[in-house]
Amino acid sequence: MAESRVMNFGAGPSALPVSILEEAGKGLLNFEGTGMGIAEISHRSKEFSAYIAGVEAQIRQQLDVPPTHSILFLQGGGTGQFSAVVLNMLARHRLLHPELEEEERVLDYVLTGSWSNAAAKEARRLAGGATVNVAVDARTLSSDGKSFDRIPPHDAYTFSNDPALIYYCENETVSGVQFSNDESAPESFPFELLSKNSLLPLVGDYSSSFMSRPIPRLADHAIIYAGAQKNLGPAGLTIVIVRQDCIVDVDAAAKLGAVPVPTGYTYKTFADQKSMPNTPPVFAVYVTGLVLKRNAELGGVAYYEAVNKRKQEKVYKVLREGEGKGLLKGHVKAGSGSWMNIVFEVLGDGAEARFLSGAEARGMKGLKGHRSVGGIRVSLYNAITEEQTDSLVEYIREFLDQPPL
Ligand code: PLP
Repeated sequence: MAESRVMNFGAGPSALPVSILEEAGKGLLNFEGTGMGIAEISHRSKEFSAYIAGVEAQIRQQLDVPPTHSILFLQGGGTGQFSAVVLNMLARHRLLHPELEEEERVLDYVLTGSWSNAAAKEARRLAGGATVNVAVDARTLSSDGKSFDRIPPHDAYTFSNDPALIYYCENETVSGVQFSNDESAPESFPFELLSKNSLLPLVGDYSSSFMSRPIPRLADHAIIYAGAQKNLGPAGLTIVIVRQDCIVDVDAAAKLGAVPVPTGYTYKTFADQKSMPNTPPVFAVYVTGLVLKRNAELGGVAYYEAVNKRKQEKVYKVLREGEGKGLLKGHVKAGSGSWMNIVFEVLGDGAEARFLSGAEARGMKGLKGHRSVGGIRVSLYNAITEEQTDSLVEYIREFLDQPPL
């Protein structure tokens, strides 16, 4: 079976290791020796309750999540969180500052790609009279004035005073732009520009980089969230790390005029009921637990940081070689490129189709870029091995050595 599998460089849902899939198959038949499959057993059973508590403990340990923060398991994906963060954080702001006029409540958005842009659009839909402030729009700094092709320099940001939230997307999956994890790099997130208040309302979308390396300044965040479907498991599970002061009584806030929050998106409901006010996505939780256990055996996020760093270096190196030959063109300014999603064009008539069919012939799939950006996108999530990356790099090099006739 495993021999028939291809190398899946797709952007998500993405590849999972064969050993995990085989183990998950066993769990579908018999979960933890119960004689019932994971998709059949009650989420209230003692076996599943213990399992989900273990998954939470693994995340806490591997990402070094401090006791000030809770870990919640929701559904609705990153898209659900575009809404949830706005509603829960506006409720919190209402409780903190009931005296403010609507338009005095501000939500700060950092726009570095289509996902943060989509999140800001949702904020405009849901914010009522509150103001959505664009702290920076990276498109205005781009080479053509309209593309998301870079992380802005620190002097380009304008943050508000005491906003209800400050939102950014750490890795923009579509454009392939990511904040640097090196705080001294100009492409790092500008933490030093934010207030020194220990209860910063900082919200980070980590959908496509969660668990690929340590999260800088995790403890300074109000909320970090990610869907499982890139680095952890099947779609359906959304992991939310939330500081406890952001788990608020949304109904009390609604009595003061805040927008009511749907139960399925209320952090307090999930925190109070150990993430099980309703049926959680049991299979996705199960596979995520298997992946986390394997991560721990391999050395956790430190292991993945080292491997993922080498993987992306190899791909960017061959991309630069291709640029030198005038055959490839990277979409993103040097220094702003993502470790997880590398976006480039293959130049020349019909060259992209040739590139893709050559890759396909070698069992490499999922390389076609997002429809909004075009070109090629190489996704290097945790399940892509260094050997698979080497095979891809070798193919790209061969391709560059055989320019069109
Ligand atoms: N944010 C980022 C960075 C993403 O990559 C995605 C999806 O790929 C989303 C949000 C939306 O997530 P979902 O499809 O889980 O709603």
